[in-house]
Amino acid sequence: MSAKLLDGRLLASQLKNQLKEEINSIYRSTGGRPTLVNVMVGDDHGSCAYANSQKRVAEEIGIKYELRILKSDISEKDLVEIIKKLNSDEHVNGIMIHKPLPKHIDYRSVANFVDIAKDLEGINVANIGKMIVQETKIIPCTPAAVMAHLHSVPIPLRGKEAVIVGHSEIVGKPLSLLLLEEYATVTVCHIATSEAGRLEEHVARAEILVVAVGKPALIKGSCIKPGAVVIDVGINQLGDKIVGDVEFAGAAQKASYITPVPGGVGPVTVVMLMRNGIEAYKLQNPKKVRV
Ligand code: NAP
Repeated sequence: MSAKLLDGRLLASQLKNQLKEEINSIYRSTGGRPTLVNVMVGDDHGSCAYANSQKRVAEEIGIKYELRILKSDISEKDLVEIIKKLNSDEHVNGIMIHKPLPKHIDYRSVANFVDIAKDLEGINVANIGKMIVQETKIIPCTPAAVMAHLHSVPIPLRGKEAVIVGHSEIVGKPLSLLLLEEYATVTVCHIATSEAGRLEEHVARAEILVVAVGKPALIKGSCIKPGAVVIDVGINQLGDKIVGDVEFAGAAQKASYITPVPGGVGPVTVVMLMRNGIEAYKLQNPKKVRV
């Protein structure tokens, strides 16, 4: 392997230390700490494991975190009522809606009820719009984690060919905006790129490659441009192993930096959720916070 490993656990631990200091400073000036609520519908095992890791990180840095598990047959209307109550509860600073939701609930309709000042994941359309004009510090967590990895590398993004594979609302699309803000030249690939047989040609010219699809080994090591920075967002269960979307061994021969799966983007994503919790608290207490 010639690539340097971008160790997400190490980066997460450095970022957690910074957030801990910020929380202490907030506590000194306001006497309060951010309180975050994760609303989960049904208690699916995988979702609970992810929520538990959020709780662990929150406690580690001094944030209050509550997991509210609702019955899986709750109606969309009742879920919206719960969100509205959390919006008006002054003790709650951040709200997230755990995905996946059951099929009878439309995620987008519910997401838009989350108060934009408490929108932990930056999913309300108003916050998505504010991102385009750089008016919000609440940025969707996974793209923020990708950017944190890219900022940890001594390679400027300006003028670089950045290729994102996957155009979902929570990863690819917001990430394209963040990379544009830094003057990378951005190409976003999706299913139609693959259908047209053109994925490899785009990947082959990527100096910065971010893959967020959910298909093991979609990106072959042989396609990677020598010296590329490769960020693999994918999480796939393959037998008893978790793997990403990039064929790791082959890609690591050619890349300059690469994230592993697990232990790459995932640990940093949870920390970015906490950072959004702090930003939400600051938005709600503009006069009290002196950081
Ligand atoms: P998603 O909503 O299913 O989006 C997947 C994207 O990949 C879509 O844009 C889809 O295009 C595109 N796609 C599917 N097949 C493709 C192909 N053969 N070639 C090119 N593009 C293709 O998934 P997501 O929520 O963005 O998550 C993506 C992956 O990241 C998953 O493995 C997920 O578990 C992981 N993830 C990790 C983290 C983390 O913190 N590490 C956080 C979030 C997600 P179409 O929509 O046009 O079909």
